[in-house]
Amino acid sequence: MDINGSRLEEHIYTLAEIGKIGETGVRRLAHSKEDRQAVDLVKRWMEEAGLETRIDCFGNLIGTIEGKKKEKPNLMLGSHIDSQPYGGRFDGTAGALGAIEVIHSLKDKGITPNRTIEVVCFSDEEGSRFNKGVFGVRALIGQLEEGELERQDKNGMSRLEALKEFGVTPDVTQSPVYQPGDIEAFLELHIEQGPVLESQEKPVGIVSAISGPLWLTVTLEGFAGHAGSVPMNLRQDALVGASTIIREFNELVKNEGTLNTVGTVGSLQNFPNSRNIIPEKVEFTIDLRDIDMEARNRLETRLYEIIKSTCSELNLTYSLSEDTRSDPRYCADWIKDIMREEDEKLGYHSPTLMSGPFHDALFMSYISDYGMIFVRCEKGISHNPLEFAEMEDIQKGVELLYQTAVKIAQS
Ligand SMILES: [Zn+2]
Repeated sequence: MDINGSRLEEHIYTLAEIGKIGETGVRRLAHSKEDRQAVDLVKRWMEEAGLETRIDCFGNLIGTIEGKKKEKPNLMLGSHIDSQPYGGRFDGTAGALGAIEVIHSLKDKGITPNRTIEVVCFSDEEGSRFNKGVFGVRALIGQLEEGELERQDKNGMSRLEALKEFGVTPDVTQSPVYQPGDIEAFLELHIEQGPVLESQEKPVGIVSAISGPLWLTVTLEGFAGHAGSVPMNLRQDALVGASTIIREFNELVKNEGTLNTVGTVGSLQNFPNSRNIIPEKVEFTIDLRDIDMEARNRLETRLYEIIKSTCSELNLTYSLSEDTRSDPRYCADWIKDIMREEDEKLGYHSPTLMSGPFHDALFMSYISDYGMIFVRCEKGISHNPLEFAEMEDIQKGVELLYQTAVKIAQS
């Protein structure tokens, strides 16, 4: 291997000590004391790797190593080091510390890149504290929203105050930091957070795209009545309607979707939710994802047919609201080609797979070509202290990241 696997391992386990909960858990909420401690430690590792560092006004930690040809657009690597409140040791950190290891290995070999390389630990990827994530990367590319700094955590502290406590003074006029054309390629390594690589017995995967979710809220209305007195043929039971739609939606995605389509009803409210009253109103969410837009659109149309026919059969009315409609973002073919070539040389035979969850890379894709590498994680468990990835798998993934980065940096 060209990377130093034991240094990487030491960094990952040392960082996991900050905000440690239980034996294997981590709690490093965005802009918190633990987050700052982690940023300071990782900043030191960046400097040891030969990067010049800065913490920007949004809490992003950015390291730079100047290339020989300053006129060329930069190569950027990165991920995040904040965590869920009850999170694991590898989500984000494998990619962030892996990126630093890439630079440190270059230094060890005495290689000066042609292109300037930047390594970013994006602030608040997870979003659990202010109920809105990928804050740092959105600031970098100019996708902050109105009122973003006024959002409050559950103790009533605003993001503005939290960032000040973290040690920076946010200034939204500084966003965007990067424009399209500034960055040649963005590369992110991340644990898969799903079971596909494990099921294929592969340590590493090359990502094809990050799927775009369609989020809907469906509201069904019937009529409440006494559970003991209204005969079955006169009922307008909204919960029976919802259960029919949920079941048929599940069948639809399984039978008519692509291999990549996933559909979920994850939240449901029943009114009045009483043992002896026929349900009058039910509201539930739909999450439908695919990297194939045509397939997703087709299923969306079929879902509407199911809702319509179910409601007419059960004498219900319905309304729909669209909460999110995102397009899938495809990894650049030229980057995937380099990854496949390097993967071949390393003898990994890594499969190509899509990402259901989003990552910082999704947002970088709006200003730069991007590529992603996934590392197998046990049973697909993530956002949980039980999250686990074999160090050997992470090292293999980072080795592929290194080889890919070198190719791009020297081009
Ligand atoms: Zn993550």
